[in-house]
Amino acid sequence: MNEFDVLEKIASNLTSRKSSAALSNYMVLCNNIRHLNASLEQTISKLDSIFNKFHKSTQDHAIVKSEYSPSSPSNNVIPVVARILLNDIAIFTKLLNFTKADERNGITIETVSKLSRNFEDYNNLATATRQYIDSVVSDSYQVSLLSPKAINYHVLVSLNSFHKFSTKSLYAALFNPEIESALAEFNTLRFNDWANSHITECAHSTFAKKVDFLMSTHGHTAAVDISDKFKNIFKFTSEFTHIGYVSTFYSTTVGAEVIFGDDIGPYLPSTENHSELKYEILETAINALLYIYFPSLKKCINDILIPASADPLVQDLSCLQEDLKKSLASRNAEYFFFVKHGLVGSKEHILLTCMCGATRAWESPHSPGNLYCASCGSGFRILEIAGDPGYIITSAGPIKVIGSSVPEFSDLPREKQKEILAQVEKLRAGAPAT
Ligand SMILES: [Zn+2]
Repeated sequence: MNEFDVLEKIASNLTSRKSSAALSNYMVLCNNIRHLNASLEQTISKLDSIFNKFHKSTQDHAIVKSEYSPSSPSNNVIPVVARILLNDIAIFTKLLNFTKADERNGITIETVSKLSRNFEDYNNLATATRQYIDSVVSDSYQVSLLSPKAINYHVLVSLNSFHKFSTKSLYAALFNPEIESALAEFNTLRFNDWANSHITECAHSTFAKKVDFLMSTHGHTAAVDISDKFKNIFKFTSEFTHIGYVSTFYSTTVGAEVIFGDDIGPYLPSTENHSELKYEILETAINALLYIYFPSLKKCINDILIPASADPLVQDLSCLQEDLKKSLASRNAEYFFFVKHGLVGSKEHILLTCMCGATRAWESPHSPGNLYCASCGSGFRILEIAGDPGYIITSAGPIKVIGSSVPEFSDLPREKQKEILAQVEKLRAGAPAT
């Protein structure tokens, strides 16, 4: 292949885009986006209140560790950390606003073009994501290290860029003789010494190096696929933010689109593709909080406050982390249903109630293609049990085998429930250890 062969392949394939529908079910995607976005919103609001409590605690000198007490030069990291956390709330809220589920109420064939997603939609979503993931990683890095030199490096590099084009009013708002003298000191350094000097330090200068460092600090060395996801979302969104050829081509060439439809109304392939990306972004954004941000915050709080004061805050963070983890795990999960043998293939509808609360009426002739929850996208697996088995004991307690002649376990009188549970306990105690 020579340069003209390659150019020919680009010219004939990457200059007029074919529209393609996302493989996922659009209605499920919208439900899942709504669910994760709401979970993230709740997390951000609770984080904000934990940050406020933490900030107040750091003002009480009696509960700040001596290393960060007002008499120590490291005390100055405290206001910087408070500012970083406050910035994060603003950055996280921005992502929240760009990852809302599509509003489909009132959309008709005439107005379906409102759902078309173009360059600006993709670019805004990708840019908000890029800012989010970048902030989660670099801010986690700072609060994990609490190193004066590392903070100096990042702030001075930022100031050095900012002051080059800042207007008079911006300059006046941010710069004063003290800041100017710090920047002047920084400007005495050669570029090659920026990351390692008498005033600055950055041992992990790239996004990928920071991810590896944080994942290993917090004990997630085995989660290589998760680390790769963070690095990939960073590269992917950078491609949009920096107006790469492929991302711009992809998002600017939505011509006339085929109109799709479902129970709610019409929609377009570009809407569905955009939603698919939104869902993937929400999932990765939440994982970034779970794997990197929360553990870094906990480390920071434990490093700055004495244990008696750090513990309740760390406990609050753990609860929040657990809720978020559960919320993510409830989407696109896999659930098993126990069904009496002979019911599948009969004329009866089988009611399958998902863990999310939605019920699917699996209609005869029971096509395996319909075995999923239209609300949360979870897949259903059917296990057939011979005879009239009654209840199956699961880790969540006794569950009625669908089609059995017994009532639902929760509908049994309390006494009967206790009796069954006692039988189960007896069986369990008598079971040979495995
Ligand atoms: Zn469900």
